[in-house]
Amino acid sequence: MKNDDHIVLQDNNENTDNFCEQCKKEDESVKQNLIMHGYKICKSCNLAKTIFPI
Ligand SMILES: [Zn+2]
Repeated sequence: MKNDDHIVLQDNNENTDNFCEQCKKEDESVKQNLIMHGYKICKSCNLAKTIFPI
């Protein structure tokens, strides 16, 4: 049997995706927001986005 790596795309970025796309800071809340909302943003940017939606 082969390991089919093409199916599990998300596992490749597991340790490198804690950087917020808005402010470029590293924060563990980025990963949580990515899972919950689909956005790579930290909790402070997420709060700003909620208050001031663009
Ligand atoms: Zn941010």
